[in-house]
Formats: sequence, structure tokens, C-alpha cells
Amino acid sequence: MIGLVAVTGNGARNARHLHSSWSDARLYEGNVRESLSRAWSECDGIVLFLATGAALRLVSGLLGDKRTDPGVVTVDDGGRFAVALCGGHEGGANGLARRVADTLGAEPVITTASEAVDLASLGSLGDHLGFVAEEGSDLAAVGRALVSGEEVRLVSDARWPIGPLPDNVVRGGLPDDGAPAMIVSDRLEEFPHPSVVYRPPSLVVGVGCSRGAPAEEILNLLRFSVREAGLSERSIAHLASVEAKRDEPGLREAAGELGLEVRFHPAEVLSEIEVPNPSEAAMRAVGTPSVCEAAALAGGGELIVHKRKSANATVAVARKPVRGRLYLVSLGPGEDDLIPPLARKALARSDLVVGLDQYVDRVRHMLRPGTRVETPPLGSEVERAEMAISEARAGASAALVSSGDIGVYAMGSPALEALGGEEGVEVVSVPGITAANAAASLLGSPLGHDHCSISLSDLLTPWEAIERRIEAAGAGDFVVSFYNPRSRGRDWQLGKARDILLDYRPPETPVGLVTDAYRPTEKVKLTDLGSLRLEDVDMLTVVIVGSSQTRLSGGRMVTPRGYSL
Ligand code: SAH
Repeated sequence: MIGLVAVTGNGARNARHLHSSWSDARLYEGNVRESLSRAWSECDGIVLFLATGAALRLVSGLLGDKRTDPGVVTVDDGGRFAVALCGGHEGGANGLARRVADTLGAEPVITTASEAVDLASLGSLGDHLGFVAEEGSDLAAVGRALVSGEEVRLVSDARWPIGPLPDNVVRGGLPDDGAPAMIVSDRLEEFPHPSVVYRPPSLVVGVGCSRGAPAEEILNLLRFSVREAGLSERSIAHLASVEAKRDEPGLREAAGELGLEVRFHPAEVLSEIEVPNPSEAAMRAVGTPSVCEAAALAGGGELIVHKRKSANATVAVARKPVRGRLYLVSLGPGEDDLIPPLARKALARSDLVVGLDQYVDRVRHMLRPGTRVETPPLGSEVERAEMAISEARAGASAALVSSGDIGVYAMGSPALEALGGEEGVEVVSVPGITAANAAASLLGSPLGHDHCSISLSDLLTPWEAIERRIEAAGAGDFVVSFYNPRSRGRDWQLGKARDILLDYRPPETPVGLVTDAYRPTEKVKLTDLGSLRLEDVDMLTVVIVGSSQTRLSGGRMVTPRGYSL
């Protein structure tokens, strides 16, 4: 819960705005000192609409332990700045300042040191992979070392696709000389100090139980087995069991207590998995010789705790294989503001970025120091895909970038074809605004009813197939977006496409030509099918031909939602 405390009229107006926009905010009204101390005990974060000086005086009497105090953000009377005053990392004030800034259109002010090294924060390293920093980690000491450029050791049993790190972070074994370390491990060990220990979601606990097994018994067996094997409970990614146990109350309750999901697998799948301790009883009861061991292993990996039993439950633990990441990143048509926020995140987390020169250039300023960039020339799609895939296969994170949407006439399909069913690589796709959508927004609303896209490039597709599709689009009365309409070597295809469509719709049918949408060189032209001039079109144009219903309204191209025939 986020507490909002305001004093002045302006402050109260901004507080009310946050209150009406956020579902987790509560307004505290009345005496400011009392409101603040109530909010202090009831909330995880507090937004104080006060000058920092006044806020400091009020907050100072309440400060206790920074691990448990709420994060505090102050906002000036003009609503221009959201200052993370205290509890930046642990209290979440940095994130809260950004949220406040987003909603009020203010500037977030964040002063904690690790921000300066461009790591979102040491504590949130790998949070996109599900890492959690262990309580009691020396965040401040390691953070200081990181910012001051001192060598910090990165120790990890497996290579996780964390993304680029500052160059004073060096991979290696545990330091024995007191050097600061960042340790990624699921093992319960006495690690040297100063260090930050990250718990990766690397373990799967398979659980079997008889009907009516109490949650407490399952939990006790699970916790005992994990701890005895020297493993951290915080590294459990999820539980796993057999489909027949989906409604077993004890198992559900145990998972709820741990805050974990249970993945249920069909008995036929589990019975195919080879395990060290199969049992006849399990076979009779649920149709697979193993529940806990097979379920733990169902996602691949290695069994590290064999079956353990209590009266009504069994558990086994597997360590999942670590997978590298392949990001398929769409950059939108051209303008920075149309680059999806998820694309920015993916790029900041990529060790390697692969794409055509002109696309990579658009995002270079978003890459973290240490990111490698490869820009093989046009015409080498397979080579580009292979470059990124082999990086991901080695456990790193690699991004393939395309303009528009990466799934539309771009690198998405060659990359996924090259990857096939390879399990060692996780694919994360970021969708983007494709040329047809970008052009449509500049023309009006031409895609308001059924539409299709056709590429006029016959380099990879036989012209007969393209022609058949244009005929079909004509017969079906689809609005058509033509991609790759014309290039120096391909100058007749668009004329032919126009002639085919003229068999189906009148010459007055509106046509929009958009070249370089959302780039400084953007050109937008409205014409009609009868007067479409090929010389207005080049390789960077998308041509949108209306259906028989498309018309101009106020100078804009509109395809009505409802056909009134
Ligand atoms: N993946 C891209 C399409 C690549 S095919 C996307 O989703 O947009 C290349 C064709 O897309 C070009 O020949 C042109 O027809 C169209 N195109 C790409 N970017 C464009 C832009 N900014 N303005 C107009 N057309 C564009």
C-alpha cells in the first residue's frame, strides 16, 4: 500500500490524482504529523507532498531500520520533481519516485550510488530472470566497490543471461582475499564477505502425496529435504506434480504458503521419464511409476535430491538447466518514442546485439557499456540469426533487432526456424509497430475493417504466388498494405498489382503512400488507384490501397467499421 500525505492545496490535488489513478494508494488527511506516522506503520511506501526540508524534519523522528522502513518520496508543490528521499533500494523509493513521476509528468530524482553505474540497482540484478538478493547481503559495500571501479568478482555455478555488467565486474571463483563479490548460487553456504548473494530460480521440487495429506506434512518434508541437501528454499522456481493431484488441498495449501506455482504433468508424460526410484504403488495409484522424481525432472535438468518420504508425502529436487536468452526485438518504424519500452529493457539486458547497421544505430544509445554489436550486411539473414543463437546457446543473452515488427517480413521467422526445438535457449519476443500500422495512423484509419498485407518482393516468393494473393485480396475486398512495393531492380510489380486490383474496385479507390513513416524524411501522400504514380513509391514506402468501402473523410483515409451495403 502506498500512503499519500499532502498539506497544501496543490499537494492535495496531486495526491488525489495519484489516488484516483493507482489501485494501491491510500489518502491520509488531517494533521500531517499524525497522518505520516499512521502511514509509516501501515504502508510500504509514502509520497509526501512537501518540500524536502520540511519532509526531512517530519521523517527523521520515524526512521528506524532501512530494511523495514517504508520508502519515502517527496513531491514539490509545483509537482515538478519526485525525489526518492530515503529507502531508495530496500524501501522501493527509487521505483516509487519513477511511478509518481510517470503519473504526474514529473522528473524522478534518484541519488543512490548504484544508479550511477547504470545498473538499475545492485539489489535488482537479474530480477528479470527471477533472482532475489539474499537478506543480509552487503549491498552497500559491494555497491560502493562497484561504483568506485574496484574489481568485483562475479561467482556463478552456471552462466545466467544476466546481460552486460560494468567492466570492473570479473567472472571467477570465490575470492579468498576479502575482495567484494556478487554470488549467484542456490546453495546454502557461508559465503565470504563483502558479498551480495543472489538466489536464482534454479530448483524444481517434485511432490507426490496421498489423498488428504496435510499441508504441514508436505511443507515439513519439503523444507527439511531442501535444507538438508544444502539448498536455499528461495531458489525453488516452482513445484511439480502429477495431473491427478491438481485438486489436492494439502498440496495447494503448501504451495500457497511457499508462494509458488505447482506445474501438473499428465501421468503418461511422467511415466516416460527415467528415474532412480520407481514404485509399483505409485503406478497403481496414479498410473506412473514415479511422481516426485519424474515431476521434478519433467522440465529437464538433473536430479539432486532423490525421493524422500514421510507417511503421506514424497519429494525430490531437480536443478533446471540454465537457458540462454534470445530476444527478438522490434524497434518500430523510426521514432525513438515508438520504440517499445520492453525493447529498451531487452536491449539493456543483451550481451550481444545483432542487426542491420541502420537499425542498430537507432538504438546504440540504449545499450549498456560492454554490449557487443554485430552488423552483418543485408542479405545475410541466416548468418545474423546464427550469430545471435550461438551466443544464447552459450548461456548469454543476445538480441536480434528489426525495424517495425520483427515478426513481419523480418528476422523473427528465420531465427525461429534456425533455432528449431532447441531447449537450451529461451526466446523472448518484443512486438512492435509495423509499417502498415504506422502508415495507417498517418493516413487516417484505413485499416478500420478487414485488411491484409502483401509483400511485392519476388526475390524469395514466385511472382505467380504473389499475383494469386493480390487476386484473392481483390475478390475478398480487403484493404491491402503493400510492403516492399518497388526497388531499383523491381520496378513493374506495383503497376501490375494496381492493374489487378482495378479489376475489382473503381479507379477512385483511395490509396495512401507513406514513405519513411515516423522518420525525419517522412512523406505522406493520398491518391487513388487510377492515378497511382509509381515514381512516388520507393523501397521505403508502404502502399495502402483501400477496399471498395474506403473513403475520404475530412481529408483522411477511412475504412468504415460497418459495411453498409
Ligand atoms: N519488419 C518491418 C518490415 C520490413 S520489410 C515492419 O514490420 O515494418 C521492408 C518494407 O517495410 C519496406 O519496403 C517498406 O514497404 C516497409 N517499411 C518499413 N519501414 C517503413 C517506414 N518507416 N515507412 C514506410 N514503410 C516502411
